[in-house]
Amino acid sequence: MRLCELTLRDFRNYEQLHLAAEPGVNLIVGDNAQGKTNLLESIVYLGSGKSWRTQKSAELVRFGAAFADLEAKVYSQEREQKLRSVVFSGRRPRQLWRNGVKKKSAGECAGVLNTVLFCPEDLLVLKSGASARRKLADAALCQLRPNYDAALAEYNRLLEQKSRILKERFENPAWLDILPEYNLRICQVGALLISYRARFFESLGKEASVYHGQFSGGAEEFTLHYHTVSTVADPFAPVTKLTEDLQDHMESHARAELETAQCLTGPHKDDFDVQLSGLSVKTYGSQGQTRTAAISLKLAQRELMKRESGEEPVLLLDDVLSELDPGRQDFVLNQIRSGQVFITCCEPERFTKLGQTIQIHKGKII
Ligand code: ATP
Ligand code: MG
Repeated sequence: MRLCELTLRDFRNYEQLHLAAEPGVNLIVGDNAQGKTNLLESIVYLGSGKSWRTQKSAELVRFGAAFADLEAKVYSQEREQKLRSVVFSGRRPRQLWRNGVKKKSAGECAGVLNTVLFCPEDLLVLKSGASARRKLADAALCQLRPNYDAALAEYNRLLEQKSRILKERFENPAWLDILPEYNLRICQVGALLISYRARFFESLGKEASVYHGQFSGGAEEFTLHYHTVSTVADPFAPVTKLTEDLQDHMESHARAELETAQCLTGPHKDDFDVQLSGLSVKTYGSQGQTRTAAISLKLAQRELMKRESGEEPVLLLDDVLSELDPGRQDFVLNQIRSGQVFITCCEPERFTKLGQTIQIHKGKII
């Protein structure tokens, strides 16, 4: 799988951009705030219909422009394919095309351009808050499983509506009558999410432990543990059983939810934890261990996607190499010898030997 050509119009700080990409390493260099990350963001958006930086797609449109137009020529599934997204600055919904055919959802464009993004924040993901870890896992799972993507979107919508019902319980007490229906659906969809996550974390943990083993010379045993709602004894149980478990938890928190006007129960609080030889990285990991474990997780994500689709996803390294010491840089670079990679950095000297260099200045290639 590779990106062959990228064309942007009024995307972020790009008025016009046309880029012919190399099948191997594409090094994107430039000073700060010139548009390097924006370029990677456009690739992620074309592939997944999402940006890791914002939920508000209007932010993607260049200031003062009415819409942004993104196009990619991709070689995947053994043929040339085209993806196009048009994003509006107002409230108009975005439009998506796959090979010239208009699509209703990003799910229908999934699998054409899979990406794995790795940025400096990811190096600390095991030390940061649970939401960063959920975001990392969700981004991977949404690309791997379009049905998960749809379920997650529904879950978030339900949660938002439930939260509104709870917040406005005094102004609109009649709304409380429909709360049980919301709760049931939240448990059903939540159960589906747990089921997907359990399987994903199991594979991710196995794969990452192989990388971590190579990296640490086998000195540490890497294990990944998925944490979900406390009433779920076995996240691999059938979805109907998981639904019941979630309902149990919800019932016991019904009063507290009404009192606090918050959605206190469901897999939106899920988390995972990595342990090295039995010690939690979050609590005890050294800086080096934390980084090594994070790199292993990212490489594992890439490996899983490769195995699932039979094609190597495009790897996007945003400023991450310069954050690593030479030993870790070498490890990452050795692991990415195959497949297409986009690497952004400010100081090109260290990496220019790797492949094509693209110099960016104020939203233009120079
Ligand atoms: P760094 O090396 O600091 O990470 P960068 O080259 O990755 O820099 P980007 O994050 O790509 O920089 O952003 C470059 C610029 O894009 C920022 O100065 C920002 O103000 C600008 N920008 C962001 N969104 C828009 C937009 N919608 N319209 C115009 N400019 C934008
Ligand atoms: Mg950047």
